[in-house]
Amino acid sequence: LKTALKDASLLADKAFVGGRWVPAADGRTFAVTDPFDGSPIADVPSLSREEVAATIDAADVAQKLWAKRTAKERATVLKAWFQLILDNADDLALILSSEQGKPLAEARGEVVSNAAYLEWFAEEAKRIDGDIIPGANAGQRIMVLKQPVGVCAAITPWNFPNGMITRKAGPALAAGCSMLLKPASQTPLSALALAVLAERAGVPAGVFSVVTGEARPIGAEFCHNPKVAKITFTGSTGVGRWLMKEAADGIKRLSLELGGNAPFIVFDDADLDAAVEGAMISKFRNAGQTCVCANRIYVQSNVAEAFTEKLLAKVAGLKLGRGTQAGTTQGPLIDEKAVAKMEEHVADALEKGGRLLAGGRRSALGGTFYEPTVIAGVTQAMKVASEETFAPLAPIITFRDEDDVIAMANDSEYGLASYFYAKDMARVFRVAEALEAGMVGVNTGMIANEMAPFGGIKQSGLGREGSKYGIEGFLELKYVCVAGL
Ligand code: ADP
Repeated sequence: LKTALKDASLLADKAFVGGRWVPAADGRTFAVTDPFDGSPIADVPSLSREEVAATIDAADVAQKLWAKRTAKERATVLKAWFQLILDNADDLALILSSEQGKPLAEARGEVVSNAAYLEWFAEEAKRIDGDIIPGANAGQRIMVLKQPVGVCAAITPWNFPNGMITRKAGPALAAGCSMLLKPASQTPLSALALAVLAERAGVPAGVFSVVTGEARPIGAEFCHNPKVAKITFTGSTGVGRWLMKEAADGIKRLSLELGGNAPFIVFDDADLDAAVEGAMISKFRNAGQTCVCANRIYVQSNVAEAFTEKLLAKVAGLKLGRGTQAGTTQGPLIDEKAVAKMEEHVADALEKGGRLLAGGRRSALGGTFYEPTVIAGVTQAMKVASEETFAPLAPIITFRDEDDVIAMANDSEYGLASYFYAKDMARVFRVAEALEAGMVGVNTGMIANEMAPFGGIKQSGLGREGSKYGIEGFLELKYVCVAGL
């Protein structure tokens, strides 16, 4: 990998703490491997809990100085970071694809589209406006200030090793917070590469640190260290729940982007070709490993056959392979655990009467490759309907009418993304308002961008990332009562 990069210094194998690149004091490391064939890429430090605590101390000192800079100064640094990411997008994509497995073009798309969060929040930094409210009596004015929450700790997943970082660091740094990041152990190299560029962009020492190592002790330190004001996490609902409990002692602020179980609904007035296109993007992007992936595809009975036929034709065109190979549309799954979940959901669906139309087995490529799979005749009783598969399984469930499908779609503890295709305007409003989800894609399978508030309701999480709302989670309101006027 090193020789394939234009700038080999982006491949960092030290932790970045308080502005210094360091190994673990005790020399411990863990291996980062290529999910294509398990070959080793790098060894990365496994920091101790004490080392993480020391980094929090540094972040606390740095934050106070960072917050004193003008918004414009902070914006200038964030814009420089943004620009450096764009300038190095090819290398960042190669690092990402190598450690995560997704196709290079998708990796590049992730890098570029998520760098935009840094640009967006650089702009928003200048719009952290307060309020002056008329006083409760004539001699008073109510002043409302917005101030940074302080030191923020971020924990990010492996499915978007690059993008999940900029959308957290962007608003945090714009608001005047500092941030420590613990990247997923499968994919720390993308995080470290971003840190190389942050340093180059002039992010001051301690304002952005990357602490690599074991999730449990680092997570525990984040939750129990009194200097950490906020935890922002993207990952599974189980870990989110654990963090929420652990963080309760210190009443920490929390933003959680957790699991989803997105319904993707096709009504009979939909443009079926567009719906198939949207379903392909929503279901098979990143081999089905995104929290907003269509998990359940509901198709109105009278168009189910036509939709399924078109979908199968598209699925047949998917090409499995190494992410860095030209033409690949589907990389391997992240690990054996992911394959096991896929196998479990497929077996359960077939056992309960589902009809296998494509895939349904591991790929001849071996490793953690699984064939894109389509199963028809799926019901709400099957595991695919209630659990997030996080793999390339498209289950087709037919429905009679609007009420029927809304009831099924909302029958979930999750409420992250949802999608539907329809043309009738009254239906568009009715269904969009009825779906219990933080996000609804109407006639589209792609909903995330820096200008939109990304996030979930129910057990899919707390808070929003992106848009003018995304910075609020990194700010506290302070009310100043100015009296004696
Ligand atoms: P997945 O099962 O998809 O890997 P996780 O929620 O386990 O999703 O992982 C998301 C992120 O949370 C990763 O960075 C992982 O290392 C981290 N993580 C997992 N367990 C814990 C924990 N107990 N405390 C803190 N972070 C954790």
